[in-house]
Amino acid sequence: MSAYRMGRAAGSMTIVEPGRATIEKDTLQCVHCARHWTAEPGSGRQRGWCAMCSGPHCGGPACWECIPFMKKIEEQERRERLAAAMRLVGA
Ligand SMILES: [Zn+2]
Ligand SMILES: [Zn+2]
Repeated sequence: MSAYRMGRAAGSMTIVEPGRATIEKDTLQCVHCARHWTAEPGSGRQRGWCAMCSGPHCGGPACWECIPFMKKIEEQERRERLAAAMRLVGA
């Protein structure tokens, strides 16, 4: 049984396991898909850095291109509004 919870400070995670010392880990958040991961030097995972967002990205296939998370949501909302407007005029 382990319990995971976000630490008080943004960007850190506290792992509490009964009978073991509490582990504090630094977490990073992808600026493109908002995924969290823990920084593990030497894990071999390839992560990236986006100069446009000046933040780290998770290195996922979709995240090498700069499409910020918020922009994706805005675009989706715009498309939905447009689709609703189209239905309204019967186009
Ligand atoms: Zn990502
Ligand atoms: Zn970016």
